[in-house]
Amino acid sequence: MSDQGNNTKLRDDQAQLKQEMLIFERGSSGRVGCTFPRLDVPEVNPVEAWGEDAVRGEIAGFPEVSEVDVVRHFTRISQHNFGIESGLFPLGSCTMKYNPKVHERVVRSPGFASAHPYMPSALMQGSLDVMRRLEEALAAVTGMDRVTLQPAAGAQGELTGIMMIAAYHAARGDTQRRKVLIPDSAHGTNPATAAFCGFDPVEIPSNSRGTTDIEALRAKADDTTAALMLTNPNTLGLFEDQMEEIAEIMHGCGAQIYCDGANLNAILGKTRPGDIGIDVFHINLHKTFTTPHGGGGPGGGPVGVCEHLIPFLPRPTVETDAETGTAYLDWDRPDSIGKVQGFYGNFAIMVRAYTYIRALGAVGLRQVAEDAVLNANYIQTRLKEHYHLPQDRLCMHEVVFSDKCQKKDDVTAMDVCKRLMDYGYHPPTVYFPLVVSGALMIEPTESVSREDLDAFIAAMVAIAEEAESDPAKVRGAPHSTFVARLDEARAARKPILRWDPELCEE
Ligand SMILES: *Cc1c(COP(=O)(O)O)cnc(C)c1O
Repeated sequence: MSDQGNNTKLRDDQAQLKQEMLIFERGSSGRVGCTFPRLDVPEVNPVEAWGEDAVRGEIAGFPEVSEVDVVRHFTRISQHNFGIESGLFPLGSCTMKYNPKVHERVVRSPGFASAHPYMPSALMQGSLDVMRRLEEALAAVTGMDRVTLQPAAGAQGELTGIMMIAAYHAARGDTQRRKVLIPDSAHGTNPATAAFCGFDPVEIPSNSRGTTDIEALRAKADDTTAALMLTNPNTLGLFEDQMEEIAEIMHGCGAQIYCDGANLNAILGKTRPGDIGIDVFHINLHKTFTTPHGGGGPGGGPVGVCEHLIPFLPRPTVETDAETGTAYLDWDRPDSIGKVQGFYGNFAIMVRAYTYIRALGAVGLRQVAEDAVLNANYIQTRLKEHYHLPQDRLCMHEVVFSDKCQKKDDVTAMDVCKRLMDYGYHPPTVYFPLVVSGALMIEPTESVSREDLDAFIAAMVAIAEEAESDPAKVRGAPHSTFVARLDEARAARKPILRWDPELCEE
């Protein structure tokens, strides 16, 4: 992937880099960064209490630093990064929206923050009520009959959904269904999920309009088909407008329709998956509902299902006692696929998503979709003179360009992305979807002002001009970041996430 060979290419000022990175070595024996409260229990001699073997005299290479050393270290490395609070983050398909601060205030309320998952239901009525209300709100937004909040990510939502579909077919004795049909524009998690559940993923081509080729779908759909995994709007940023035919074909052969709902932001309050023939639908709380992304941290991938799949939902579900109105956890669900997460899923993420929904209300959520789609179309219209647009028609919440025009100067989509970093932007998604060669997938979201959009467009136009006038500059980008181009495959496959004294000595 990288043209830099195997090594991370550091800037010339390596000495400075080392100084910055070697903060841990700058410590000095006996320096401390915290003060413990006075002991309020009897003091124990650890060696006497647990024996010599259980107690370590010294932790090898452990840095001894002051509070200010630590704060400066982390602040400095945070400045080498780019986050949603640094600026426009147009990473297509990822819906990098601003995460409102009010969520943090609500989730820190003592009733939520100090709740323990082992508390009996009677003592966690407030928390269960939030889960119950969030489920209701998500069901209302998507038109699905019930929603499980357990999965912690979109990919886990897919897994949960396909497991439910497998259980549904199994319960009907329909065990010859081994195929899952997946359009070629799908996110890689879709075929991975199908294969992980023991199905054979079968690729369905897109037509010249960038949507599912209906005749190809019809040809592949039969009584060995378990499901179609569709993304709508799809990853070309286009709405799959032949849902009626798709539903007829799939349900006609006894298969289920799974919809990857990562792109729900485009259709909030406009159309509902449950109304257009979809049986299972996942929602990314960390995309559409502004809970934080990334860092491998907690996410949320709730899954909505139609009535006939309710028995297979993960357990426990949150139910309401008809007489008293109290909420309780129902474990007595014999057909459930089981539990897919520890406890009940990422509860604090649910509180944030619910806060977002209540803060905006139905009208606000609809405006989210309208503004997100308007912003993407504004970018599409302004940039299509400068970048090749494979599907030249109104888009949804994201627009996919290609590097076809820049290729004549030997400048690639990756080069454009790297150069964009010099202009102070996070790059868009690159080389995805796979159906577009040299793809640049831009999703501005609604949380961006007109001024910010104009500045981003100006940067993209400037790069298109540079690709002609000074292509070497674009190919050599980024020029202003802390490190130059990385070996991206190695960075993703073998990340160094832990400080290691030996690495620093190199
Ligand atoms: C983000 C995304 C996923 C996976 O969601 P995660 O929460 O990252 O696991 C699946 N499909 C599409 C289209 C996506 O954009």
